[in-house]
Amino acid sequence: MSEWCQNKKCPEKKNQNQMRGSKGAKYYQSNKVSTWLGHWCSNGCRDVWWQDHKDTCMNAVGYIDKQVLPLEDAWYVKYNYGYYNEESSRYFLINKLKGISQIITQQQAQTPEQIAEDHSWRTIDDTQAKELAIQLGLAS
Ligand SMILES: [Zn+2]
Repeated sequence: MSEWCQNKKCPEKKNQNQMRGSKGAKYYQSNKVSTWLGHWCSNGCRDVWWQDHKDTCMNAVGYIDKQVLPLEDAWYVKYNYGYYNEESSRYFLINKLKGISQIITQQQAQTPEQIAEDHSWRTIDDTQAKELAIQLGLAS
């Protein structure tokens, strides 16, 4: 790890905050990394770095083939906010590959913890959605 931006052309941005040195011997230096990005000072510097090094990264990580999500794993729960009042909000158990979109209750759509937190938009994950579909006899 380095505390300096990994784009070697970072000083070429010539920003005021990159100026150092005394009169007659001034220079521009790299920015420090942003805590958000980790290795670069900005998205611009990350993009420059990525253009130079993407093939090296891909060769190190390795390429994968086409990925597939089969029909029986394509379940998810969606929260539709009711614009007129809270009561018109609905939860749906959905599998578009099977052509199913079924209204479910909040108790089915959320974990007890999510209900306790009172964040209506949070829902069970896709694995739990599949389990619910099996419980409801929509899948086997
Ligand atoms: Zn930079």
